[in-house]
Amino acid sequence: MAILNKDIGFQTRIRSRAEALRKLPLQHAQIKDLIHFINTSKSKNSVLYVHIPFCKKKCSFCVYAKNDYNEDMIKSYFQVLERQIIEHAKLINFSKSISAVYFGGGSPSSVPISYIEKTLNIINKHYTLQTNCEITLECSVCDISDDYLYHLSKSQFNRISFGVQTFDTEIRKSIGRITAKETVIERITKVRNHFDNVFIDLIYNLENQTKRIIQDDLEQMKKLDLSGCSIYPLIDFSKKKDSTSNNDSENHENEFSLYKIIDDYLDSELNWKRLTAHQYNSKTIGSSSYVYSVSSGANIHAFGCGSGGKYGPFRYFTVNDIEKYIETANISVFEAAKTFKISENFTIFDTLLELPEILSINKDYVKQLPQNIIKCIDKLISIDLVSPKRNAYHLTQKGRFWTANIASFLIESIFLHNQSQNPSQHE
Ligand code: SF4
Repeated sequence: MAILNKDIGFQTRIRSRAEALRKLPLQHAQIKDLIHFINTSKSKNSVLYVHIPFCKKKCSFCVYAKNDYNEDMIKSYFQVLERQIIEHAKLINFSKSISAVYFGGGSPSSVPISYIEKTLNIINKHYTLQTNCEITLECSVCDISDDYLYHLSKSQFNRISFGVQTFDTEIRKSIGRITAKETVIERITKVRNHFDNVFIDLIYNLENQTKRIIQDDLEQMKKLDLSGCSIYPLIDFSKKKDSTSNNDSENHENEFSLYKIIDDYLDSELNWKRLTAHQYNSKTIGSSSYVYSVSSGANIHAFGCGSGGKYGPFRYFTVNDIEKYIETANISVFEAAKTFKISENFTIFDTLLELPEILSINKDYVKQLPQNIIKCIDKLISIDLVSPKRNAYHLTQKGRFWTANIASFLIESIFLHNQSQNPSQHE
């Protein structure tokens, strides 16, 4: 059966949650309101994100905030970062402890580990981390020398995440990855000998990536005995957003067939648990508290340039440009960021987004929603993206593939229901 057709109605595939969330109606928020909210609300689970925007080598497909490796810049960056982390702790009443800390990028392992360790020590000193706090470092395999691994194994990090994307040497070369398959395997094996919780990212729909190559990647992952993986479709940022040529349908079908191979393998062969539409974790090794917490609405304290934090309906986005970020040395994270609030329908949005994020939503909750939103769920059921089972609505496999479109559709239904309620007009 065709995955994209008039019954489904999504004309253009949205491939990232960030793109779907761009439709959220955000109003400018006063910093004092944001701080008041944090200090008075019975906050949910809180996590802490630190962005390290440096990479030794840039990959062709990547649009994240990243900069060339430059020692002076790194030194200045960490000075600002450390000061803002300390000042933020003084501003906020941390009544609840942090359940997960995540150093992402960029490629945090590209900077000397002494910077990372010092920042983590500062976090430990000024914030209360839960005793079993998950502390993740994103790494590039090309940075994992024996010396680096020695220091990493002595650090407080207990979860390592590699952006492998694919093990295939030729495809790795084509996306700007310099490390060959054998070296990737050798280094991840060494890291796995020191850490139980080793997670990787894979990308599907890369150019020349056949079903056989995807299958090889999955089998390789199984041999490495990892704790979990994220799977992402390649996002081609060079394409025009609204291009809806006839080929799109075929492309989506091919893309879906690759997604299906991965999703089926992780479910049936590895018996991994689906955390979100894109993240899976072994039922016996490690955990992914950070990714699960973020998807289920945790508060995020975010630091560093190009990062985004959130507290309930409030959002803040720091500057992308590292030089501008370094100029914010003497002001707080919030003063250096743009601060926003989601409108009065936030409560519905917050709960309803569990469907495209953590894959199910309680039927009793849906019953209380406005009619226009109930109709949207009915529409998603009628086109086999959502399935009612027992006391909840669940995304089907096809629904998980179209998850960002579903998020976007729900956002339109919640906030913009006067404009468009028909998924066939979506995008
Ligand atoms: S290492 Fe990661 S952040 Fe850096 S360019 Fe490659 S994908 Fe992007």
